[in-house]
Amino acid sequence: MSTSAHVGASVISASEASPDPRRTGSRRVAVIGGGISGLAAAKYLIAAGADVTVFDADARLGGQLHAVEVAGHQVDVGAESMFTAAPGPLALVDELGLGDRLVAANAGTTWIWGDRGLRRLPQGFTPAGPTRLWPMLSARVLSLRGMIRAAGEALVPTTDTTQDVAVGDYLERRFGREVVDGLVDPLLGGLHAGDVRRLSLRSATPQLAALTSQHRSLLLRRRPRPGAGPAFVTLTGGMHTLVARLAERLRQDGVDLQVGTAIERLERDGRRTRLHTDAGPAGSFDAVVLAVPAAVAARLTGTASPAAAEVLRQLRTASVAVAALAYPRSAAATSTLATGTGLLVPSHRGRLLKAATHLSTKWPHHADGDHVYVRASAGRVDDTRAWELDDATLADRLHADLAAATGLDVEPAAARVRRWAATMPQLEVGHADRLAAVERALAQDLPDVALAGAPYHGPGIAACLRSAATAASDLVTATQER
Ligand SMILES: Cc1cc2nc3c(=O)[nH]c(=O)nc-3n(C[C@H](O)[C@H](O)[C@H](O)COP(=O)(O)OP(=O)(O)OC[C@H]3O[C@@H](n4cnc5c(N)ncnc54)[C@H](O)[C@@H]3O)c2cc1C
Repeated sequence: MSTSAHVGASVISASEASPDPRRTGSRRVAVIGGGISGLAAAKYLIAAGADVTVFDADARLGGQLHAVEVAGHQVDVGAESMFTAAPGPLALVDELGLGDRLVAANAGTTWIWGDRGLRRLPQGFTPAGPTRLWPMLSARVLSLRGMIRAAGEALVPTTDTTQDVAVGDYLERRFGREVVDGLVDPLLGGLHAGDVRRLSLRSATPQLAALTSQHRSLLLRRRPRPGAGPAFVTLTGGMHTLVARLAERLRQDGVDLQVGTAIERLERDGRRTRLHTDAGPAGSFDAVVLAVPAAVAARLTGTASPAAAEVLRQLRTASVAVAALAYPRSAAATSTLATGTGLLVPSHRGRLLKAATHLSTKWPHHADGDHVYVRASAGRVDDTRAWELDDATLADRLHADLAAATGLDVEPAAARVRRWAATMPQLEVGHADRLAAVERALAQDLPDVALAGAPYHGPGIAACLRSAATAASDLVTATQER
């Protein structure tokens, strides 16, 4: 698949985010955290002529881009796809020479396991809410009363969004409670593992926030035509191959990649920043990118910038767990799940299962072989039930929910569980203000330290690449101004 058509208008194209090499001289820059955000920041910094060291606490790079083997197949248990509306991911794939491994997701039904049983997610329903009325009404997800309320959106006066509001509250005011509980919660809430009545309209759904200031009614506005390319793509070897190739490229470009090295302390030393592991000093740097979870960033900045640390500690997260399940292909083919690409479960149902992806229906490269592969996930903010179960019981319980929803009457032939503790950032109401407060404190106390990654600028590979490019560019400017 060629990606060139997508990269033209990139907001974070490599050229934009790669300032003139002469501008940073040979400044030493440390990147703490070797997930996609940290590795991308390293790429942008090396292109600007910096001497870069990446530290990751884990024995492997990639963070939340990770796959495990299940019944002889590599299955992503972190990020499994990239959204192509933002050009960054495809530009990176092109640059790393991985274009021939790109595959587009098959179009397919997403099932919602709601109060009325299994229903299709209405066409045009996005994480930011409905864009079309008729598919929503005809999907039979809503009661008659709920349908009448949703159709009344066009008559609801403008909702004031000058102050940040919860996206769930905003959409409830416009479409009614049933739309939020039955559709927005499983889709947007599921994506963020969050509570839609706390997630920020401005930070969690910036596109929707932009629309609210331009249009009185979301249903009456003129909708742009859908883009020509596929919305979601992955790489045939799994999304983790993106970080593997990126790391290989960085190594060739002279980046020092230090795995198994947790940075525990950071201190200001004149114009430089000293880093420490538990074992001792890890070097002195002109600039530092913090591409780590907010709790780690709070710990690291605690002494040098208590004001930044205090706000970083307030950024909430959710823990999630993914079970990769392999079912015998012949037996699983009759399940309703096999007729779609995914399943979403509203939180008010109280089920452990939050969502499932039928990888073998969704992706062409998972379509053959003796097994079909399903990713089932659990865990939302403030819901810790998955963490009270051991891996085998968790996989059993997720399978049981899947079976109850879809009539699947065969046990998995193999299962692997991967837990992601405190990894899903909660961009809750007021997030933009909190982030601005952290950045102000850092500018004052640690002017050569920048934040990059999902905890700050939102989850997803596209958002992480954008965040990394901004952090790199800010540090180039800061070090240049000294
Ligand atoms: C189950 C799941 C499914 C997802 N699905 C998708 C998807 O399909 N598409 C999509 O776009 N996004 C998806 N996401 C979100 C996406 O994966 C993340 O937003 C993104 O990978 C975050 O990257 P990051 O580099 O900011 O953070 P991370 O990947 O968390 O990297 C942070 C790194 O910091 C390291 N670290 C921590 N402490 C220290 C320390 N003291 N010193 C040094 N290093 C340290 C960690 O080891 C880690 O490697 C998913 C996430 C999960 C959990």
